[in-house]
Amino acid sequence: MARIVQKFGGTSVANLDCIRNVAVRVKAACDAGNQVAVVVSAMAGETNKLVDLVKQASALHDSAEYDAIVATGEQVTAGLLSIVLQSMGVNARSFLGWQLPIKTDGIHGRARIDDIDGSQAVSLMEKGHVVVIAGFQGLSPDNRVTTLGRGGSDTTAVALAAAFKADRCEIYTDVDGVYTCDPRIVPKARKIDRITYEEMLEMASQGAKVLQTRSVEMAMNFNVPVTVLSSFEDKPGTIVAAEIENMEQEVVTGIAYDKNEAKITLSSVDDRPGVAAAIFGPLTEAEINVDMIVQNVSADGKTTDMTFTVSEADFDRTIDHLDRHKSEIGFKEILADRNVAKISVVGVGMRSHAGVAQRMFKALADKGVNIQVISTSEIKVSVLISQDYLELALRALHTAYGLDAE
Ligand code: ADP
Ligand code: ASP
Ligand code: MG
Repeated sequence: MARIVQKFGGTSVANLDCIRNVAVRVKAACDAGNQVAVVVSAMAGETNKLVDLVKQASALHDSAEYDAIVATGEQVTAGLLSIVLQSMGVNARSFLGWQLPIKTDGIHGRARIDDIDGSQAVSLMEKGHVVVIAGFQGLSPDNRVTTLGRGGSDTTAVALAAAFKADRCEIYTDVDGVYTCDPRIVPKARKIDRITYEEMLEMASQGAKVLQTRSVEMAMNFNVPVTVLSSFEDKPGTIVAAEIENMEQEVVTGIAYDKNEAKITLSSVDDRPGVAAAIFGPLTEAEINVDMIVQNVSADGKTTDMTFTVSEADFDRTIDHLDRHKSEIGFKEILADRNVAKISVVGVGMRSHAGVAQRMFKALADKGVNIQVISTSEIKVSVLISQDYLELALRALHTAYGLDAE
């Protein structure tokens, strides 16, 4: 007998037939003698609809009310799944974030979980009841509803698994595991049987949205074994866990991409000490995350160009801040390009193998794809390219690193 947290994403609960399918899985886990907690997402498309409604109401809106609205999608699914489970003879009860409670900080739209009171849920599970918890939401220090950022139900599930001291956390979705690249773009992508927390963290943070980045961070910190599985097929899935010694290491484990970045170049920036601080200081204060950065040395010792990327969502605010600080920073003009994509190759084996970046540059050159910005870390190499070549580049790299399925 084990204690399990099962999470079902939007497409897995897209309609009542899907919810019935989920209920069958949950019941089977209970009948096998396990204690089961379930975390649900909103039905597919519902969160987007709610976000659109908020934007239509007012482009500039109060983020606390945004959360009050977008958190409602999960409430519907938690109630529906509980009713279906009850109709199958399972003792099920729904819980919203505030009812446990899942306490978060007060940063609306991307709140972080501070504390979870698992006592009520655990005592119900010990009696054989199923607790169905609305994902993606929590309660702020001043008792307002918060949300954890898009894709946040994954984080709810892992956090609950840690709080409930569950044996494992199962993430059910519309693919049967983590693949070497998004299988919707690279048909030859291969399913990975086992991936380390570290690699999954890098894949997720570089755009592989199969798991929310923070859910992986949390799984790693609390040592929660996570399995990614299909809710539609009975297949083994992917285990995300700590590195095991002598585990055979591929040099490159996977390739991730992110279309939600925008490139900004400030031309003729003064080449003097303190200029980077002058540019990025105001952006940091505005909580805008800058990702890739390149600065050239100036040919004349006077001015240079500074290029960097921000997320698409922060683009307008970034331009606004730069315009407003133009005189302090000192630059000629802002050149912006939103039609870019970042591709990252990831693998812990990179630590001990040379030539990974070069293989990437060569494969892209062979396809005539121009690299605009490069950045590296210990276990990844990222390049920024034109979005027009994204699919071509992903497939070429997948082949170049020998990742293609037979
Ligand atoms: P859910 O609604 O269940 O949370 P998501 O849409 O958030 O599902 O995540 C699943 C999707 O992630 C898949 O449909 C797939 O297109 C995408 N994806 C991106 N990269 C990968 C990858 N490396 N492996 C598997 N799926 C990936
Ligand atoms: N429903 C939320 C979203 O679409 C949370 C989630 O699905 O994980 O982002
Ligand atoms: Mg998701």
